[in-house]
Amino acid sequence: MPERAGRCLCGTCLSVKPSRRLSLFLSSLARRAGPGKQRQPPELRGWAAAGIMAAPQQHQLLQYSVKLLLVSEEQLRGGLQLASPNQGALQLAVQPGEEDADVTVTDADGVCVFKCLVNRDTEYCRVGKESVLITLGYNSALLQFKSHSEYSTFSNALKRCRNQKKEHSVFNQRTEEASAAQYFQFYGCLSQQQNMMQDFVRTATYHRAILQNHIDFKDKVVLDVGCGSGILSFFAVQAGARKVYAVEASSVAKYAEILVRSNNLSDKIMVLSGKIEEISLPENVDVVISEPMGYMLFNERMLESYLHSKKWLKSNGMMFPTFSDIHLAPFSDEQLYMEHYSRANFWYQQCFYGVNLSSLRSAAVDEYFRQPIVDTFDIRILMARTVKYTVNFTEAEEEDLHRVEIPFVFQMMQSGLIHGLAFWFDVAFVGSLVTVWLSTAPTEPLTHWYQVRCLLQTPLFAKEGETLSGKVLFVANKRQSYDIQIVAVVDQTGFKSGNILDLKNPFFRYA
Ligand code: SAH
Repeated sequence: MPERAGRCLCGTCLSVKPSRRLSLFLSSLARRAGPGKQRQPPELRGWAAAGIMAAPQQHQLLQYSVKLLLVSEEQLRGGLQLASPNQGALQLAVQPGEEDADVTVTDADGVCVFKCLVNRDTEYCRVGKESVLITLGYNSALLQFKSHSEYSTFSNALKRCRNQKKEHSVFNQRTEEASAAQYFQFYGCLSQQQNMMQDFVRTATYHRAILQNHIDFKDKVVLDVGCGSGILSFFAVQAGARKVYAVEASSVAKYAEILVRSNNLSDKIMVLSGKIEEISLPENVDVVISEPMGYMLFNERMLESYLHSKKWLKSNGMMFPTFSDIHLAPFSDEQLYMEHYSRANFWYQQCFYGVNLSSLRSAAVDEYFRQPIVDTFDIRILMARTVKYTVNFTEAEEEDLHRVEIPFVFQMMQSGLIHGLAFWFDVAFVGSLVTVWLSTAPTEPLTHWYQVRCLLQTPLFAKEGETLSGKVLFVANKRQSYDIQIVAVVDQTGFKSGNILDLKNPFFRYA
């Protein structure tokens, strides 16, 4: 691994005066903004903020002329002549299949009076509390159950069959539908693609990594996983690629296609609309390129899609980026800690418009402390050299990222209160000609990934020379994110603390 001065917080780097490194850091930010321009902070990598910054939606008013029939529960129970009045109890059987369910209704003599196949395309809905209306062509059948719970069991069985086909893909198996819908709606917006493209550090480093390693691309077949606007595919062509397969699951794929055509590159770049886990490529590839990093590296769980794409990689093919290092270090920041408590203290009030809120104060504290904090900081708050954990994209398997355990032992370099752990990551592009690094360290120009800090519920006191040991555990969840568990102990005193955090719901603190 090549030396990268100022990148990490190793002993050598810490021996440089922090104030100088900070001023270098700030001046490099100013340079990036260009002459005469006010420095703008990079916009957040927004998907995680999507709950806060809802992606714009187009609401188009649709109008129809209809007739309305209001049916009360009483009418459903017998007032409406839905079946012949002397109809006896019928038996309904549901036989779930691979992608559909066989629904059969028989009378007391075992004679079949109704039969249909319910699949993803079947239209059906609940009527009242315990009836279901199934529409087949021009006819509809209303089935009334004895109770709501019987109706629910039936309806859940149908839902399971209808969803079965989707669950075949690795992506769908590991992702809740609602999360995926929100995620791809977000990336479908040109404004979000623009936000990433305008992160100069990110885009320029990818450009450099690809063009400076042109021999790895010349006449090669390339796969761009999650191509977005297609920007990395264009870089690959600039470096001499013969063919690029640009795979994108969100609706931005159609815009990538427009760019490909308007840049006269239809013979070189083929945009494939769909998830990498579900699409098929016409051939295997020499290089996979992608930008799959989320907050704290792991958020979005797109690294798994990146690793999944290796099924299309020739043996000895290249992964660009090649590996990633996640760094962590203990920090001291009384102000941040107090800020979190003050936010929660809203619930401490005993007379909020005459209402006593204080019974919810501890729940509020828990909720706030579950939020990782996304912003940047002065590196002087760091109390020890970082511990590093590497994910090698050439060797790792998707399953390796379902549970990531990072053990640590920090040698404290100053005495004081440890309020939590700070995280950031670097990725490396190991090419045949050069290795290029993209760093999100607090010593480097700020990117739209910022840095992320996780607070401990109770700060820990430690003295210089003591050791803080423990582990950080990332457990993947179906919301395309991770539950984070931290445990830490000061070995010499036995003081122990920890926290459980929800990476899907960060607190954006950057002012
Ligand atoms: N490569 C572009 C976009 C990076 S953002 C650039 O560098 O600017 C990640 C993109 O990957 C998003 O557009 C997202 O919709 C897409 N994506 C995420 N998971 C995917 C998957 N499983 N299959 C295909 N595309 C995916």
